[in-house]
Amino acid sequence: MKVLIVYAHPNESSFNHAMLEQISFGLQEEGHDVQVKDLYAENFDPVLRASDLEQLQKGNTPESIVVEQESLRWAEGLVFIYPLWWFGRPAILKGWFDKVLTNGFAFQYGDTGLRGMLQHRRALALITAGGTEEFFQQNDAEHLVHRPMTDGTLAFCGIEDVHHRIYYDIAGMGDKGRQNVLEEVAGLGRHFNE
Ligand code: FAD
Repeated sequence: MKVLIVYAHPNESSFNHAMLEQISFGLQEEGHDVQVKDLYAENFDPVLRASDLEQLQKGNTPESIVVEQESLRWAEGLVFIYPLWWFGRPAILKGWFDKVLTNGFAFQYGDTGLRGMLQHRRALALITAGGTEEFFQQNDAEHLVHRPMTDGTLAFCGIEDVHHRIYYDIAGMGDKGRQNVLEEVAGLGRHFNE
């Protein structure tokens, strides 16, 4: 499968970056064709501006958005890797969706209601959190960690096969725990096999 990895962490020595390396390796080991979109490294501008909206409302897609949409069109599978920041995605990733998933490209409303237009065969979100799993369960908050991404974005835009993994307590789990996570992440390359 052609798999696009969209990665959103500013620090090249972060645990998220180690996850990026592992899943890239795991996907390639399984024979998949991988492209990485490293939003911070690309200095992606996440702000959807009035001028962008004006163009979109006239039916024109700004060139900077067309380029991102081409990356999405290329891919059959999608992976998103990011840390949980304020119960959500880092702003740079949220802004990527704001700009790229335009009406008419990613979804459309018609006589029969919403139609998701993304054709990807599979999508996977890998999310790290500082809090413990116990904390999220006690506060009935697990759905906040992934649903804006899995249901509110990817499934909304028509992708039926959407999965997520949440790695809790990343700083507190210790070296052995983090090693296990990285091994699991490398093995997720198989997730994209037919
Ligand atoms: P890092 O800080 O880079 O690393 C975590 C640990 O892994 C460190 O001990 C590091 O030494 C180790 N490590 C790094 N690389 C490797 C490697 N290659 N192999 C083994 N170990 C390694 N958390 C919540 O739960 N809820 C929130 O709402 C929330 N909001 C946040 C908002 C902001 C603005 C910020 C900055 C943090 C927030 N957090 C929140 C915490 C955040 O989710 C975690 O800090 C983040 O997920 C940890 O991932 P990281 O890649 O940044 O880890």
